[in-house]
Amino acid sequence: MLYLDNAATTKPNAAVLTSFVKVNESFYFNPNSPHDKGLEAQRLLTEARTQIKQALNLDEQCVVFTSGATESNNMALKGAAYQKRSFGKTIITSRLEHPSVLEVMRELHEEGFHLKYVNITASGQIDLEHLKTLLNQDVILLTCMHVNNIMGQIQPIKKIIDILTDYPKVHFHVDAVQAIGKVPFISEGIDSLSLSGHKFNGLKGQGLLILNNEHSIYPIIQGGGQEFGIRSGTVNLPNNVALAKAINITIKQHNDRYNELRTMNSALRQFIRTYNGVYINSPEDASAHILNISFPGVRGEVLVNAFSKQNVMVSTTSACSSKHATLNEVLYEMGISKNRILGSIRLSFDHALNDVEMTKFKNVFDDVYQEVKELLINDL
Ligand code: PMP
Repeated sequence: MLYLDNAATTKPNAAVLTSFVKVNESFYFNPNSPHDKGLEAQRLLTEARTQIKQALNLDEQCVVFTSGATESNNMALKGAAYQKRSFGKTIITSRLEHPSVLEVMRELHEEGFHLKYVNITASGQIDLEHLKTLLNQDVILLTCMHVNNIMGQIQPIKKIIDILTDYPKVHFHVDAVQAIGKVPFISEGIDSLSLSGHKFNGLKGQGLLILNNEHSIYPIIQGGGQEFGIRSGTVNLPNNVALAKAINITIKQHNDRYNELRTMNSALRQFIRTYNGVYINSPEDASAHILNISFPGVRGEVLVNAFSKQNVMVSTTSACSSKHATLNEVLYEMGISKNRILGSIRLSFDHALNDVEMTKFKNVFDDVYQEVKELLINDL
């Protein structure tokens, strides 16, 4: 099987699984219990948090363990909006965001916050000039993903941070789910940042919310006061220790892996360009782990099935929204034509394909192409 759906989820690293099992076996205690075993568990929890801070080069930031980025995004966005509601009512976002952001935005709007959507450039980036025109003294929150999960385009996070220096009241949230281990990690100047362990060889149900200041959000999950009072609930120590391991591994491998991915991505682009009627949607400077392509005239689902029959797993848009019948919003916002949107598939990688995998991919791609080529429509 050739698994090319790593933006949906990745295979857990063996060392991460081992540490999860070991901690479950030997440290199943509650880190909040007052006895010796509870204290040992507490020490292990502190160590996991410290390891994460070291790996990500964090300083004073507060590392909150969550179940994943959906939870982290909900906590950060609602938490920041509620905390700042007496200072202003306006929130800025873009239509490129993941549903775990957009649905929260919709809800906040219903609760009375004003929403503004920033324009997108043809290469899928936030239009910084438009952003400047949207900012004013009523804005309390801005949210932006670092790397897009469908096209892979990278947002100019540092430039946004520069612009925001004139607006210190704005809470800046970054959804970095597709960025970690793929592009250099940025935390300075960001008020809150979300991660999901299973996107970088960790396990499902592991996530982080990194806060610049633990008091910057109102805690929407209340209870026993764990995790700095921000995310109550009995601590999942095995999960948290395993997540620290996954982060360490991903950060250590980042440079080598990324260079290999970039070389492979260029080779793949070259290969795909030799096929008449197939289009590459991901911008040239997108993250190398995502390659979105279109076969206009053929439905994405048909292509996914054709690849799947030959044991190559690719995706239509994103696993989270692939059941929606509507046109993919991200591609639509980038001005991509309807035929190209309907005929798009996403290839997403965890590591560069080796020679055997590359040959398999090329052969299957060619077979699928021969199968559908009569249906392709010119879409220039
Ligand atoms: N943001 C982005 C950019 C994502 O790709 C995803 C996962 N598809 C999420 C947030 C949500 O992550 P999870 O499903 O792990 O909660």
